[in-house]
Amino acid sequence: MFKKILVANRGEIAVRIIRACREMGIETVAIYSTIDKDALHVQMADESVCVGPSAPRDSYLNIKNILSATVLTGAEAIHPGFGFLSENSKFAQMCEECNITFIGPSSNVIDKMGNKSNARAMMIEAGVPVIPGSEETLQDDENTINMARKIGYPIMIKASAGGGGRGIRIVKNEDEILDAYHTAKIEAKASFGDDTMYMEKYLENPRHVEFQILSDNYGNVVYLGERDCSIQRRNQKVLEEAPCPIMTDELRKSMGEAAIRAAEYIKYRNAGTIEFLLDKHNNFYFMEMNTRIQVEHPVTEFITGIDLIKEQIKIAAGDKLTLTQDNIKINGHSIECRINAEDPSKGFMPCPGTVSELFIPGGLGVRVDSLLYDGYTIPPTYDSMIAKLIVHGKNREEAINKMNRALGEFLIEGVKTNIDYHFTIINNEEFIKGIYDTGFIGRNHD
Ligand code: ADP
Ligand code: ADP
Ligand code: MG
Repeated sequence: MFKKILVANRGEIAVRIIRACREMGIETVAIYSTIDKDALHVQMADESVCVGPSAPRDSYLNIKNILSATVLTGAEAIHPGFGFLSENSKFAQMCEECNITFIGPSSNVIDKMGNKSNARAMMIEAGVPVIPGSEETLQDDENTINMARKIGYPIMIKASAGGGGRGIRIVKNEDEILDAYHTAKIEAKASFGDDTMYMEKYLENPRHVEFQILSDNYGNVVYLGERDCSIQRRNQKVLEEAPCPIMTDELRKSMGEAAIRAAEYIKYRNAGTIEFLLDKHNNFYFMEMNTRIQVEHPVTEFITGIDLIKEQIKIAAGDKLTLTQDNIKINGHSIECRINAEDPSKGFMPCPGTVSELFIPGGLGVRVDSLLYDGYTIPPTYDSMIAKLIVHGKNREEAINKMNRALGEFLIEGVKTNIDYHFTIINNEEFIKGIYDTGFIGRNHD
């Protein structure tokens, strides 16, 4: 096992990884930008290294400085968390070249799956159903118009390098297509430095259902059930739950097996997520693979009792999976609310600032993963997610009751948050029934 791991991230996910390491007796190195010198992850790690100024590209994306910090502190492995360098194949490759273990899949697999249009093509080869769409990337205006005619409106234009719901446009008819194509291209270039685009049929009111998989270096792959992430605002997840409220044993088995087929085909290693869209007739289609730990991983941890970060570390260290599909059991129901420092009444504008008073909820089946402490100043520089509130109940009804109770206890003074917004979601009748889809927020609470 590793003696020391460098955590190449910040915020709640860095804290989450440091906690797992501590329980495993592994020392940790935090990295931070100048504006993060008082951040919780820096205080919790055994050692810390400043890797640059606040702008992500100068610090949390600064490959040279991060690798130097790893070598200097003698860390043997890097956990990339999510966001930042977690899906950067060049970074994973440089780790490989420097003999540092990247806790994740190989650079080659990240490269293949990170390009979403390429991933689609590979999944077709693997025999996994994909959303009907373009076989190639979009070349020019004429090619884009022709492709959309072939697929049939409505369609969705998406960035091959996309993530976080950016670089995506819905197009209802031909009048809108060139405008959408060009604005999405500009957004993709600005966000990802790559404006390669592809096209899919726009599915009306699907559910977003994703499967967590774990795979070791010896070809063993298991799935740990699914998460329903249909509660999204502008294609960004807001609340997630596991299991999916409408899942049946039969559907879980066929989607889970498709996820395994996908992972086996690309010789995937470590933790990963296969995202599917599920339509009203229980047809499911591959959408993309996230080759990293995900924000919403705690709901899976609650219902399976498996610590996903520890599993990632053990797999990276060369351990064989001790889990088998048969001994993975789903127990109860879990819901996660993403708590953001933002103002829902002002278009969800980010609201950084100083936390003047803080009370974190607790009790049986309540978990809070957060970067907050009393008096902490949230910088304006990074993602506005400041905490995740996760609950576990013996069934969905109990989980909703617990979430209502825990949201009520959660006190964050000094900055605006979306806590009240989450109340309106979980007390919505459609949500309580579990009969919702990705259009839920757009219809009810945008
Ligand atoms: P996930 O795919 O894990 O559910 P999202 O789709 O919401 O998460 O996140 C989109 C992208 O933004 C991902 O690459 C994720 O890692 C990144 N991201 C989300 N929240 C944060 C955060 N608080 N800090 C850094 N990166 C984040
Ligand atoms: P990202 O990489 O930004 O996470 P995804 O491809 O996962 O992008 O899509 C983000 C969200 O957009 C999905 O969760 C889903 O709600 C919606 N979406 C994506 N593709 C389609 C589609 N073809 N039809 C309908 N909704 C879609
Ligand atoms: Mg996605």
